[in-house]
Amino acid sequence: MKGVRLITNLKFIVDNNVGKLAKWLRIMGYDTLFFNGSDDSRMIATALTEGRVILTRDTQIMRRRVVTDGRLKAILIKGDEPEQQMHQVIATLNLDCQFRPLAICLECNQPLLERTREQVKDLVPPYVFQTQSQYMECPACHRIYWRGTHWQAMTKKLEKFIKD
Ligand SMILES: [Zn+2]
Repeated sequence: MKGVRLITNLKFIVDNNVGKLAKWLRIMGYDTLFFNGSDDSRMIATALTEGRVILTRDTQIMRRRVVTDGRLKAILIKGDEPEQQMHQVIATLNLDCQFRPLAICLECNQPLLERTREQVKDLVPPYVFQTQSQYMECPACHRIYWRGTHWQAMTKKLEKFIKD
């Protein structure tokens, strides 16, 4: 499968108690799984197998041996607001703020594929087709992404998380 090459191999798994972080990390271009189950052992197993950093508010997870002995990286998220939470993650891991826009599907975490204008002609609103030249498509859900006003608003918000 032809995908976008990942610049960093930092990957995440986000516990459902900090679910909003998944979208923001995907906006930044990080491969991020959202864990929607209640079985912590499964989340930990996935994190270990796939080399993912766990983001959670669950102090129990932080006491697990795999975490305390350093085999598994987990971050205990402290703030209540997604803004504070993102700021903590970015600061703790010193995340590259040169994030890769339009690299990961915000809905299904698939690497997006480049599409030409012609390929998306019938899939995007006419005003978008007229004004945008770069498009990406999710191979799983077939959403088309472009750097429209919605995208710009999200990245502006993200830049604020980084600065604050
Ligand atoms: Zn998708």
